[in-house]
Amino acid sequence: MHDDPLQTEVQYVKGVGPVRAELFTKLGILTVEDLLWDLPRDVLDLSEVRGTRTLQEGVVVSVRGNVVDIDGRPISNGRTLVAVLLDCGDGYLTGIWFNQPWVLKQFQMGQNVLFSGKPKRRGGRWQINSPRVQWLAEDDVVTTGGVLPRYRLTESLRMEDRRRAARAAVESFVEFVPDVVPESYRKSQKLPSVRDALAGVHCPRTLEEYTSSRHRLLYDDLFEFQLGLALKRRMWRTEQAAPVLPTTTKIDARIRRLFPFQFTEGQNDAIKQITADLASGRAMHRLLQADVGAGKTVVAIYGMLVTVAAGFQTAMMAPTEVLAVQHWEVIENVLAHSRVRRQLLTGQLTAAQRRDALDRIRNGEVDLVIGTQALIQRDVEFRNLGFAVIDEQHKFGVMQRAQFGVNSTAKPQAAPHVLVMTATPIPRSLCLTMFGDLDVTTIKELPPGRQKIVTTRVRGEQGRQRVWDFLRKQLATGRQAFVVCPRVGEATEFEGDSEHRRTDFQSVRSGGDANSGRIENPSYGSELVSAEATFESLRNNELRGFKVGLVHGQMDRDLKSRTMDDFRNAEIQVLVATTVIEVGVDVPNATLMVILQAERFGLSQLHQLRGRISRGKFQGYCFLFSDSDSDEAGKRLWALESSTDGFHIAETDFEIRGPGDVLGSKQHGDMPLKVADIRRDAKILEEARKAAFEVVRTGDVDSPEFMPLKVRVLERFGEWLHLPQTG
Ligand code: ADP
Ligand code: MG
Repeated sequence: MHDDPLQTEVQYVKGVGPVRAELFTKLGILTVEDLLWDLPRDVLDLSEVRGTRTLQEGVVVSVRGNVVDIDGRPISNGRTLVAVLLDCGDGYLTGIWFNQPWVLKQFQMGQNVLFSGKPKRRGGRWQINSPRVQWLAEDDVVTTGGVLPRYRLTESLRMEDRRRAARAAVESFVEFVPDVVPESYRKSQKLPSVRDALAGVHCPRTLEEYTSSRHRLLYDDLFEFQLGLALKRRMWRTEQAAPVLPTTTKIDARIRRLFPFQFTEGQNDAIKQITADLASGRAMHRLLQADVGAGKTVVAIYGMLVTVAAGFQTAMMAPTEVLAVQHWEVIENVLAHSRVRRQLLTGQLTAAQRRDALDRIRNGEVDLVIGTQALIQRDVEFRNLGFAVIDEQHKFGVMQRAQFGVNSTAKPQAAPHVLVMTATPIPRSLCLTMFGDLDVTTIKELPPGRQKIVTTRVRGEQGRQRVWDFLRKQLATGRQAFVVCPRVGEATEFEGDSEHRRTDFQSVRSGGDANSGRIENPSYGSELVSAEATFESLRNNELRGFKVGLVHGQMDRDLKSRTMDDFRNAEIQVLVATTVIEVGVDVPNATLMVILQAERFGLSQLHQLRGRISRGKFQGYCFLFSDSDSDEAGKRLWALESSTDGFHIAETDFEIRGPGDVLGSKQHGDMPLKVADIRRDAKILEEARKAAFEVVRTGDVDSPEFMPLKVRVLERFGEWLHLPQTG
């Protein structure tokens, strides 16, 4: 629509022109609308700037003035001094730099600048050593109330030009910006109008004005998104009829008998919520999150068996083949003496086997299906799917979650109940966005008898040798160990961890030394250590004489499962592996884990790996090898050393790395927000969510005055959330 003034090309904004417009393009700013919604990074508050008269020794302050003298000279024994004198109107102040001769070139006479730092009185004059410097434009001072927005820039686009363009856009175009939030509602929430808010961020007169304006714009962004989620949730609750799947006392007893243990309180609570959903006649859309090893699978199986008892089909989708097979084995175990008809559906089936399986699923000759993505392909049709479980959701992404409900339902009027399980706890902010349309069940406690694991970061060759010593002693007493390497086998092994995509993954198998027969240690430097090289090295050196095995994702399937079996039966004492063991191995006797180049793994992934060695009655030990000096790596590894609480670790990971890396970059790109950042704006997110769910709960959202807002929500998120374009 070209008659929308906000779509005017940025070159037509007063003072921009075609040349600067090019620079704006590099920032992704093409239209007036883009310009208005490219909010300042922060502001410089000049209203707090002092003259020299009110300065106090040692109290941090910002002082503005004009450069009236620039002096650079060598002083004693090769040192240099730069001094820049400011005329501040009511007095003078000098900025001093020692041994930074390059500073000299940054100043010119007459410049209008701001020095920040701790002033000192020297010889009757004020000075600041190594002040922070802001260069101000001529008109910064004249045209603003002393609060200067600062924007992200691109090379050769100057801050003054960026600022001026925003101001011009506000002047000429802000009146065309529609405010879709109803006025009465806006006032009840004490929000400024969107026009005032845009003027307030780009041309703030006071810091308060800037802050409240910015809040409004971020709030809008999050509020609209949460409104979409709330509408979606309501749609599911009220419009999606689902089969009624009741749990009787008899069914309950029969299911519980299948397990050799008592359910934990957390599991029982989760089961209560899930069975209530299943019996409600409305489609369940629930997220089940718990720490690693908390026993989610058991809860899911319970629900699946309730479904079968009620005469409906049920399916569980796992993100990888290994996981699907593991679930299958668990199910086989649980259902050893049962008549439940079951089917494993993965990419490994031959065409004929698959055709046969699909036939039986379509005809209702199968009650329970376990599978991979193969489950959501178009040709998979259930006769009466009642309950679908999606395991390890965040590897799938929201789109696929939606697809499950759509594709696999033969009769769209009866939607299946859907339970999504996560591998590890999800940080709250992410939970409210990526999974914000779901009900959430959380299991906090672990089954009894789990061991706390001692986790230690290890640096340097000596440290590593001590660990191998320790390992040899432990192995001798009968324990078993994992040694985990970061080298990628198949792509799926590293989903959700963008770091690993940066490098080309080459095996660093080193040429052995012919004389000694010794194979060199794999490098612990920047190159990724491969499982194969580590395997060779360990069994020839540090772990010579012990039974060492190797497993990774690129291995032949049979060999892989044979190796896993050997490890389970203790034929293998040490299993060198990639993250394939993140899932799929449950060996109570394995209590030792060494993770090489631990900084290369995501925090949740490390936590999940570590979860492999807490299953038995012996104390577990996890060693994180890392020579990395990076601050981030240090923080992450420390988080792991200092806590075994998956919920806490998830929050830390999120704080350090942000949503993209926690979920995998794909979803980050999906995050459909305009100006808000769920990590930075977590508090606003909570407010917006509460408010959005409230207007949906009260039904206010259906009043005519909310119509424009609803339309906006559908425009922005309808497709993303699979919302129907009406109502
Ligand atoms: P996760 O939540 O990581 O998927 P699982 O469901 O795989 O956890 O359970 C981890 C292990 O704990 C399995 O070996 C399972 O049999 C066992 N387990 C689950 N619930 C209990 C319980 N209530 N008591 C004892 N062991 C349990
Ligand atoms: Mg599991």
